[in-house]
Parts: sequence; structure tokens; C-alpha cells
Amino acid sequence: MSQSYSLALLEDTTVTPERLERLAARVDAEESETSLVVRTPITDEPLASVPAATATDVSTAVERAREAGEGWAATPVEERAEVIERFGDLVTANREELQDVVQLETGKARIHAFEELLDVPATCSYYAGTAAEVIADDPRDGAFPLVSDAVVTHDPLGVVGVISPWNYPLTLSMTDAIPALMAGNAVVCKPDERTPFVALALAELLEEAGLPADVFQVVTGEGSTVGPALIDAVEYVAFTGGTETGRVVAERAGRNLIGCSLELGGKNPFIVLADADVADAVRGAVRTAYANAGQLCLAPERIYVAESRYAEFLDAFVEATRSLTLGHAFEYGPDVGSLIDEAHRDRVDDFVQGAVEDGATVVIGGNARPDIGPSWYEPTVLTDVDPDARIACEETFGPVVIVTPVRDEAEAIERANDSSYGLNASVWTADRDRGRAVARRIDCGTVCVNDAFVVGWSAVDAPMGGIGDSGLGRRHGPEGIERFLAVRTVATSRVGPLTFPSALPMDWVARLVSGGLTLKRRIARRLR
Ligand code: NAD
Repeated sequence: MSQSYSLALLEDTTVTPERLERLAARVDAEESETSLVVRTPITDEPLASVPAATATDVSTAVERAREAGEGWAATPVEERAEVIERFGDLVTANREELQDVVQLETGKARIHAFEELLDVPATCSYYAGTAAEVIADDPRDGAFPLVSDAVVTHDPLGVVGVISPWNYPLTLSMTDAIPALMAGNAVVCKPDERTPFVALALAELLEEAGLPADVFQVVTGEGSTVGPALIDAVEYVAFTGGTETGRVVAERAGRNLIGCSLELGGKNPFIVLADADVADAVRGAVRTAYANAGQLCLAPERIYVAESRYAEFLDAFVEATRSLTLGHAFEYGPDVGSLIDEAHRDRVDDFVQGAVEDGATVVIGGNARPDIGPSWYEPTVLTDVDPDARIACEETFGPVVIVTPVRDEAEAIERANDSSYGLNASVWTADRDRGRAVARRIDCGTVCVNDAFVVGWSAVDAPMGGIGDSGLGRRHGPEGIERFLAVRTVATSRVGPLTFPSALPMDWVARLVSGGLTLKRRIARRLR
């Protein structure tokens, strides 16, 4: 049920139509009678098709994963770590093809395909190196010293469902799957309809690294069919996507009483304090606001600048924006690639035109660029934006930034926190202690000082995730693997059943036990 097309575009890549057909053939969807055509945003031509899995196909895939996962769960964690490390090496070694596939599916610039690839080996090494410690039995205090003890054990949950979006299809299919696998789970991944091929190429590399067949599977198909079927069949779902879909996923996971993590959207503030190095802040803003043409959950969309530095910042930021090159090449060169499709381009343009109707000024940009490709949009800077306008409140997810002057630090913090989202923020200042103090007052899961997001995202040992409309749960760090473990307490009595002695009157027992407990609490307080 798959087909490929001989596009002229493929001649500039390492990818052939036959290769895409082989990848599509990895999807085991026996019940499927239809297919999904994947188009490349670069030219809006059809690239290849994949099966549209049915709900039955999904439950079959999960059952196969569950069976194969039993052997994987019993594999010592050190051996699992070797497989995952080898996978990280293979991703690096195969980066040319993986980046070609990512660019074909998303239309992003080569540099942004490279950046997303980097996360995978880093995440592999981190969890390969740390999982054993998190998974190890953890002795805890028993109720009474010498009388009893307790130990916490950690087991895999079973099958984890990973539902990933189109914007970073390589990183976001893997960044949750890697800790889930290291924890001993099997994984079934449902990539976005528009970007299934890179997930399929990664499944192949996992097998080449030594992961037993079926422990990691990819099911392709419509989100509204495959997503719910997956949530109904797995023990945990790690979802990355939009806030509205996140609510639907959370409701379904809730009904099934399974855990879920939800990595959702953001409307990320970027604060330039009066003492900041403006040149650094401009470099950071231009590098991140237009990363992946702004289709990045962590990218700044609202910039607040201290009044005294506003003109200086705006002039330099607009000049830096003007210097960006738009275009497509399967090599490093253009700074800004395509948006994912024409519908998304129109959505971004509606945000901008709506803001203009509400009184905003377009300082630079504000136009679609069909001369470059069907879905390109110019990097755009807006000022004079009403704080209640749609563009100031909702995630634009495009190369569009609002710049607003603020009186002082207090107003910057107030404006930054005036949002239903809380994913990522940044603070720019010459005084790092001041930056960290401001960071603690910002309602976001991650706050970066003198960097927009890279310093936070690349600190793989530190958790990342959102609050409010930006989601629930954390990826990266120990928190990123703990969510995929079943925790069990094994408590042992060394003196038989802990009951009250029957040889003494109960009021004596009550006095003795209460006295003993008070003594234990006093000793514990002294030792603290
Ligand atoms: P989306 O919510 O439309 O789709 C995400 C995934 O959910 C896709 O695989 C889709 O097929 C699937 N899906 C659709 N309907 C479903 C359903 N009923 N049940 C289960 N799954 C379903 O999001 P998108 O437009 O692909 O991605 C963009 C959004 O993702 C943005 O809001 C962005 O901010 C967010 N995002 C967040 C992070 C993060 O780490 N916080 C990272 C990247 C993207």
C-alpha cells in the first residue's frame, strides 16, 4: 500500500524513490486499505506514500511490541545501554541521509536538520550512562529501625506510545523513545502524517544497532485514528504536539488510567534588561526566533526590551533579520527554510494581518514568498502590538516576533507571565546573578539566562517541560526516564506481623507506641 514518485528534487539527495518505498514497507498494516501521500513542502509535490493504519493494525503492532518487549525487559541494563550507544553512533554516521529525509519532509534549512539530529546521540549517551542508577533498587527507611526495612524497585511499564509532531520529526520521535527503551519498555511511535519517513529510517537504525525486532515500531496513519487506538493499547503515552490535541490525549489517557506526558506549545518571552549586552541579545534573538522558520516550541515570540535600550535593540534586530537568506538547498546555506505547508503559511499570515488590523506595525517582513517556494514566509518583526491581540496571546509557530518596550524589570516579568503558556523564557543581562533571580520569578518550565533556549535544551541532565497550556510532565534528566518506570515498594518485617502485643492492656500499648513514636521523631529532628 505504498508508492513513491520520481521527483527531480531527489537527484540532489542521497534518497531514492526505492529507498522511500522500502521504508514505507516497514509499516505492518495488514488491515489498511488506504494510504497517506506525503508531500514535500519544498515544491508541494508528492514524495511517497505510507499505509494509513487502522485501529486494528495499531493494536496488533502494540501486541507484537509487548511480546518482543519481554525479552528486552529481561536484558541487563548494561546490554541495553550498549545498543542505545551504538544507535547514537549510527545516527551520527548516517546523518547525510537522515538530514536529507528531514529536509524533504519538512522543507527546513540544512542547519536546522543538523541541529535536531544532534539531540539524539546526546540523549543516547546520557541515558545509556545514567539509567542503571535510576533503575537500581533503592533501599528506604522501614517503619522502625531494626524491626523492618523497605526497598523500592523499578520495572518497565510495558509498551510506551510516542506521538510526535512534524516540526522536529527526528528529535521528537526519539527523545522520549530513548529513555523509554533504556527503562526496558517496548515503544510504538506514531509520527505526524506529514513526516513519517525519518521515524522509519530511525527504526531501521535501531535494529541495526541490535534492538530486537518489533521492540520499536512505527505506525503511520491519521492522527485521529491511530492516536486514540494507540492510547487505548499502551501503558503510557509521551505526546508532543499542540495544546488542543494535548487535551484530547490527556482525556483519553485519564479514561484509561494510564500516565501521560504532554509537551505542548509555547508563547515564549525574551527579556532584555537595561544592563544587557544588546549585540549578544540580538544574536540570540535572530538565531532562535527564526530557527526552523519559527516552527519551534521553544522559540521566542515575544521580546520585551528595557526602554533605555529599545531603539538600539530594535534597529540591530531588524538589520540582522534583513541579512537572513531564504531558500532551499540540501547543503548548508539558506538561513530560513519553508513552513510545513500552505495551510500553515496562511495561518501565520492571518495572525500578522489580524495584528495589523488591530494597529500593529510591520517593521520588516509580513509577506508570503511564493517566488521561493509555495510555503515560504518572510521573517517578520512587529511592534505596537496590543497585548490582548490574538498574535500576542496565541502561539504563531512561524517566523514572526513581537518587540515591545518595558519600563523596568518588574514590568518585563509581569508581561512575561501574562500568558496561558509556560514553556520557555530567556533573560538577558550583564549580571548573571540578577538573571537567575529574575528567572525564578518567571512562570515557565525552563528559563535561560543569556541564551534563548539552546543552553537549556542541551543540558540533557536537566528536566524540560511546560506548565499551564504548555503541558504536563518532563523530558530529559532523571525525570525523563522515571515516568517510564513502574515503581514498587517491597517492605519486610523482621519480627513477624507488626501488630500490637495482646499480652498488655491496650491503653499501655497506646502509651508505649505513642512515646516510642515521639522519641523517634525527636531523634530524627535532631539528626536533620
Ligand atoms: P498536533 O497536535 O496537530 O499533532 C501532533 C501529533 O498528534 C501528530 O502526530 C498527530 O497526528 C497526532 N494527533 C492528531 N490528532 C490526535 C488525536 N486525536 N489523538 C492522538 N494523537 C493525535 O501538533 P502539530 O501541529 O503537529 O505540532 C505543532 C505543535 O507541537 C505546536 O503547538 C508546538 O509548539 C508543539 N510542540 C511542542 C514541543 C514541546 O516539547 N513542548 C515540541 C515540538 C512541538
